[in-house]
Amino acid sequence: MDKYIILGGGIAGLATAIQLVNAGKKVELYEKSAKNQSQGHAFILMPNGLDALKRIGVKDAVLRLAHPIDNFQLHNPEGDLENQQKLPGALGIRRGVLVNILTNALPANFIQYEKGFSHFEKDLNGVIEKAVFSDGTKCSGTVFIGADGIWSKARKTVYSDFSLSPVRIREIVSVIKAPELVKEYAGTFIKVIRKSGGMAVGMLPCDDTHLVWFIQYDSQHPHLLDIPLKEQKQRLFQLTRNWCHPIPRLIEKTDFQKAYTWHTTDMNPIPSFHRKNLVLIGDAAHVLLTLTSQGVSSALEDAICLTDLINQSTDQPQAVIFNRFSNLRRGRMEEYFQLGRDLREQFLFPMQSIQKRDMPLIYSEV
Ligand SMILES: Cc1cc2nc3c(=O)[nH]c(=O)nc-3n(C[C@H](O)[C@H](O)[C@H](O)COP(=O)(O)OP(=O)(O)OC[C@H]3O[C@@H](n4cnc5c(N)ncnc54)[C@H](O)[C@@H]3O)c2cc1C
Repeated sequence: MDKYIILGGGIAGLATAIQLVNAGKKVELYEKSAKNQSQGHAFILMPNGLDALKRIGVKDAVLRLAHPIDNFQLHNPEGDLENQQKLPGALGIRRGVLVNILTNALPANFIQYEKGFSHFEKDLNGVIEKAVFSDGTKCSGTVFIGADGIWSKARKTVYSDFSLSPVRIREIVSVIKAPELVKEYAGTFIKVIRKSGGMAVGMLPCDDTHLVWFIQYDSQHPHLLDIPLKEQKQRLFQLTRNWCHPIPRLIEKTDFQKAYTWHTTDMNPIPSFHRKNLVLIGDAAHVLLTLTSQGVSSALEDAICLTDLINQSTDQPQAVIFNRFSNLRRGRMEEYFQLGRDLREQFLFPMQSIQKRDMPLIYSEV
């Protein structure tokens, strides 16, 4: 019987573990961070992400603690509605809430925390026998699943010269407590975009009392060019302070110290999401531009796709299953990579953008 070693207990790793455990497989899950470490801010889950959570059996638990979103609105800074789209089946959720729900769907004490993957030990044919952790301990298995996120070390073992390229778009993300705004904007994801490009504010409720909001900006914006990163937050808040309601309220309620600055990155798709008995999923396999709003949902889809193939193809050799996974998911991600790049051009250079998309996000039906 195969023994599955999952490296990384984020969204993709947890979802994969649940599906394999529920199918009676032998699984171990290793996570670098300590238990109960801070779990980030919040995000939008697109309908494809919610479908994946339904398959995992946690949809109801998620719906109890998340905020359903059914409408996406695009405004200009003066507050005029420029476009809108129905978004049935999306939701806003705090990352820590989703991580807890997924963790609780696993047996007690299943996750081995503070186990940062370091490297593999392989046999003479390049087949991985053991994963070695930074504390020197090792674990053996027959299948290794790299779910160790954006800076994946598992990916690096296959593509040693791989690097992520910086993108000039940055994003400052905050979660604020604002029950009155949650009530006012119930069910709505709003984005306010400057017509000339390079700056946008997005906002959506992520539970009954909190909103997640972000400023996306061009780091080469003339008003920011010579400003040290530490002071950019303050300057951005000044630049958007006079934008329409509710942006001044969001700024007023935000603790600058807790806002997180995201340096967005881009990558060329890697040639395959698997090599021998290693499979990569989630951000370890594909880092999508944040403009797509598809990072988390795609990670969940990977988990479902991979575990369905494993659970349903018991008589197939590993290589056939993993190749199929790679082909299926790589094809989909290539579309997302391209759409993300179109969105980036549209965000930075709206006047010149040829591939103009009506709405600045990727809905599940591509
Ligand atoms: C702490 C944290 C906070 C985040 N906050 C947000 C947010 O507010 N909004 C948003 O849109 N996205 C956020 N993200 C990113 C988002 O969760 C992912 O882009 C998305 O869910 C894809 O899922 P993933 O499982 O591939 O990656 P992740 O969810 O990032 O999970 C990767 C996991 O691997 C672990 N890991 C990393 N290196 C190793 C290693 N060497 N050995 C073992 N484990 C390792 C990480 O600790 C993490 O738990 C956050 C990610 C992290 C890790």
